[in-house]
Amino acid sequence: MSERVIPLVDQRTAALAARVPAMPVAPTGLLTDARGRPLRDLRISVTDRCNFRCNYCMPKEVFDKGYPYLPHSDLLSFEEITRLTSVFLGHGVRKIRLTGGEPLLRRNIEALISQLAALRTVDGNPPEITLTTNGSLLARKARALREAGLQRVTVSLDGLDDAVFQRMNDVGFPVADVLEGIDAARHAGLHPVKVNMVVKRGTNEHEILPMAKHFRGTGVILRFIEYMDVGATNGWRMDEVLPSAEVIERLRAELPLVPLDPAAPGETAERWGHANAQGHHDPALGEVGVISSVTKAFCGDCNRARLSTEGQLYLCLFATQGHDLRSLLRSGASDTDIASAIGPIWQGRSDRYSELRGTLPADARQGTRRVEMSYIGG
Ligand code: SAM
Ligand code: SF4
Ligand code: SF4
Repeated sequence: MSERVIPLVDQRTAALAARVPAMPVAPTGLLTDARGRPLRDLRISVTDRCNFRCNYCMPKEVFDKGYPYLPHSDLLSFEEITRLTSVFLGHGVRKIRLTGGEPLLRRNIEALISQLAALRTVDGNPPEITLTTNGSLLARKARALREAGLQRVTVSLDGLDDAVFQRMNDVGFPVADVLEGIDAARHAGLHPVKVNMVVKRGTNEHEILPMAKHFRGTGVILRFIEYMDVGATNGWRMDEVLPSAEVIERLRAELPLVPLDPAAPGETAERWGHANAQGHHDPALGEVGVISSVTKAFCGDCNRARLSTEGQLYLCLFATQGHDLRSLLRSGASDTDIASAIGPIWQGRSDRYSELRGTLPADARQGTRRVEMSYIGG
């Protein structure tokens, strides 16, 4: 058996300082980056810990008992997250996604959701608040999350076959408990529930059709995600990526599907509707989506910023460095200062890793310096 070498360089402490420029940058909601992309979507990682060890994200060999998770004092408090979020809303953010690690492991996350739900966008509307979870604690928490102001939820589930799923989460967590969480979310009104399935060739590709059939007609939107080369520890190989085009081909061999228009600009998923006997999309049967992060880059309208567990701003999922907003916050900076500091950081953003992936030298692609997805959030 060949041994896998897992490079690990801790990039978490290597943040760039966030400086307040001489000229204030007003929160007009109109901030754009160097490629003309607005700032609309803020993904906030609320913990770097998880109760799963999905081998594509937190492989057991690296994330073991000795792994140096962040101490609690390094985490942004709920008040700090809420304050930074209000500044981001001033720059045009409309959608907030809580993630991690496993966000439902952060104690009293409902309190954070209530605080975020009280904020307003520049248009005076409540922000859209959603959360991505492995579903393990959802059955218990769905109602309280909804009551706190959560609007939607995305649940990760990589197959319906227990043996396959348990091998992928690597902690022996059963499918039935995640399905129970999904049902609880539907009944709590976290609508529409989305389910994300990471497809790894040779691991769970035979689960594509059973998953599509299971969720057809339930109101749950299933999305197939290409296995990505995020982080530096998952030993990613291109031959384990099953291109979305192939996913659609396999689905269409058994289920009639018709292409649908994107729901919103900058949306990552390509949508396909289940069709009726006349070949038209039947909303009662629902839809599936494919997220082709590897084979079809969507950097052109990427409007997503990521806030790490300890308050570093990342401009791309594949970034090697963040910008330290926590130090600025804890130095007593005003909201105007923080908004002004974020201004030039976003204005200078030119990241488009997925578009460049194919042209990068191997050492840049291998990503030994990249931060982990469990730290900056998916
Ligand atoms: N723990 C939560 C969960 O699993 O939903 C939230 C955090 S997780 C990092 C967010 C999403 O990233 C999940 O849907 C997960 O499947 C996806 N993800 C993690 N590593 C990935 C990889 N290498 N390629 C594609 N998606 C990945
Ligand atoms: Fe945990 Fe989510 Fe990563 Fe799986 S994908 S290890 S559930 S953070
Ligand atoms: Fe956005 Fe970076 Fe992903 Fe491109 S690679 S879509 S810039 S996060």
